[in-house]
Amino acid sequence: MNNHVIFQKIIKKEIKANILYQDKIVTAFSDIHPKAPVHILIIPNTFIKTANEINKKNKNIIAHMFYIAIQIAKEKKISEDGYKIIINCNKNGGQEINYLHMHLLGGIKLETLY
Ligand code: 5GP
Repeated sequence: MNNHVIFQKIIKKEIKANILYQDKIVTAFSDIHPKAPVHILIIPNTFIKTANEINKKNKNIIAHMFYIAIQIAKEKKISEDGYKIIINCNKNGGQEINYLHMHLLGGIKLETLY
């Protein structure tokens, strides 16, 4: 399914989204169906389909995504109580949108799988 186009359009502001942060490398915006009081998606501006496509050439983008997620967590004042950063990969990981994205979730006690 080519649903990755949704996120490409959000980056280009062709689809409305609550963009909280954008620079040359990443875009962060509110999830349309929040699973927690704070639920933000952080995506690379260049298309990467899944975590499996992280390679030697693009791996620095992931560090930047992490850095921005944590800055947003601090801005949203969820960093002291804590948060989750999640990347779902493919079918078993529950990835619905085929465009690599990091979920930042917080503002409530979140369930854990392990
Ligand atoms: P996944 O299950 O692929 O890890 O997560 C995809 C996320 O994207 C879901 O939490 C879903 O609510 C969110 N999402 C899907 N379509 C849109 C959209 O058009 N706009 C925004 N802001 N979020 C979306």
